[in-house]
Amino acid sequence: MFGYAGKILNVDLTRGVVEPLETPEKLARAFLGGRGLGAALLYQETEAGIDPLSSSNILIFMTGPATGAPLSACARWEAVTKSPLTNMYLCSSVGGFFGAELKFAGFDGIVIRGRAEKPMWLSVLDGKAELRDAGEFWGLNAEETELAIQKELKDRRASVASIGQAGENLVKFASIQVNLHSLGRGGSLGRGGMGAVMGSKQLKAIAVRGHGKVEVADDEGLMVLARELVKELKLDKWGTPWLVDEINREGLFPTRNYQQGTFEGAQRINAKTMREQLVKRDTACYACTIACGKYSVIAKGEYKGTFVDGPEYETIWSFGAQCGIDRLDAIAAANMWCDRYGLDTISAGNVIGFAMECYERGLLSKGDTHGLELKFGAHEVLLEFIRKIAFREGLGALLAEGTRTAAKKIGGGAEHFAIHVKGMELPAYDPRGAWGMALAYATACRGGCHLKAWTVGDEVITPRYDRFSTEGKAKLVIGLQNTRAVEDSLGVCALGRKAIGDEEMVRILAITTGWNFSTKELLKAGERIYNLERLLAVRDGISRKDDTLPPRLLEEALPNLKGSKIGRENFDRMLNEYYSLRGWDNDGKPTREKLEELGLLELLEG
Ligand code: SF4
Repeated sequence: MFGYAGKILNVDLTRGVVEPLETPEKLARAFLGGRGLGAALLYQETEAGIDPLSSSNILIFMTGPATGAPLSACARWEAVTKSPLTNMYLCSSVGGFFGAELKFAGFDGIVIRGRAEKPMWLSVLDGKAELRDAGEFWGLNAEETELAIQKELKDRRASVASIGQAGENLVKFASIQVNLHSLGRGGSLGRGGMGAVMGSKQLKAIAVRGHGKVEVADDEGLMVLARELVKELKLDKWGTPWLVDEINREGLFPTRNYQQGTFEGAQRINAKTMREQLVKRDTACYACTIACGKYSVIAKGEYKGTFVDGPEYETIWSFGAQCGIDRLDAIAAANMWCDRYGLDTISAGNVIGFAMECYERGLLSKGDTHGLELKFGAHEVLLEFIRKIAFREGLGALLAEGTRTAAKKIGGGAEHFAIHVKGMELPAYDPRGAWGMALAYATACRGGCHLKAWTVGDEVITPRYDRFSTEGKAKLVIGLQNTRAVEDSLGVCALGRKAIGDEEMVRILAITTGWNFSTKELLKAGERIYNLERLLAVRDGISRKDDTLPPRLLEEALPNLKGSKIGRENFDRMLNEYYSLRGWDNDGKPTREKLEELGLLELLEG
């Protein structure tokens, strides 16, 4: 197989066995790699209804054919599992160097099963893999773990994916941190509790390092494309924080737990302020020329000593506007501590903002907060609440369960403003300011996620659609979802879309693997992947009742945007059209005809 290393590492923690298996070529061709291949293996190897934190769950790391190729914006890889936050299918994408190193070490992916008797870590070095005792690392944060492992391996360039205390303590939105202390770009498998799954298996970290090469089908074509991409994909000076001004100006920057759509402190936390006050250098994933990462250092003041690869737009929002905080230094410090404890910054900021609203409405008292004033704007309490969540202390133990569960337990109408879909906290775009996002959130394969179909580009940034209308949104969302499924499966970064469109992805697949797909066939693979993910969700009980939005976002208008109220009727119109175009029944289940058209069951059961 060109473009693939040809082997997947099978790790059974219960039995303490590590063995290489062949990468299944038929499945790789049908589901491309990365997210698609991971979902196919999850479907085949797990049962419906399993407890995500039990030994029956499996955690899959999977690269795509582009991962590790010397192409700009092609360093991504994917993790797939069942989420403890949503209790359904979960996929998560990250860049850095880990995916490339894994392939250079001779493996396309790692499938982790069972549960170790005691804390372990896994080393994967040039084709050799072994489980090692992690007793002395248990209790360390993710950064300390990465440094300790690199020291043990005597290799500063070993790529490490590790969990912090949040993962050990099974916080439902604990992350896996990747290349946290690298000189290049680090990242998080942030959403949905990947870190808790790893923690439940008593697996503290995986370190990879390889010096091999993945053979591709067309070496010359690869060099030609590499040069083209370098020309097209220039350094991004601002990174994702450029969105702060745009989204705030257009009035869909969720503020104080989605009570408003503009934040009066936005200028103090925008990309320009960040570049001037915090950023020391740009960071990039393997072979990427965009270098969207921004390494920030705080040298003075109460947050002195903070250094972090970030914050990105979503994190600026989650600890900024969402919590009513206009201090970039506090936001950067919150980002650093989330990375160290191993916490998803989106869910952490969302749930803290939610708790702030509960406190201001009298649903939480000072008795609940240990005397702390958990008010919007109170940056002084931010780090303490992040710590409490990571260690499940006091109110932190409740917030560690996620917004959905916390709202149920707090009661008193809190569920009305618990901002999540299927249990996953929503990110930084108020769907009332771009109705396509309402449908995108409601139908995202992993719950409340902006990355599966980011309609903001087509509705707000370069508008091609009326953003306060249902018109055309179902088709738009489906197209974006299918394309994203292809990108995530090949290992292509969505931030490279300026130069890597559908045709370039066809070229990437052909150059790396030798498989000549048409654009139509490639997007069909994207559709196949999305339907497979829906099958995984459906078998865990997801249906139309779950494809919805929190009441606040459905029933109220944004005070700053006239005509922004979506309403149930409009929402249902979009959802009905979506189901119909997808070939799903009225309850959101893929029909037999659709599954046959995509050859799905035959592939999965064959
Ligand atoms: S654009 Fe950013 S996230 Fe994407 S591959 Fe490049 S550095 Fe990594």
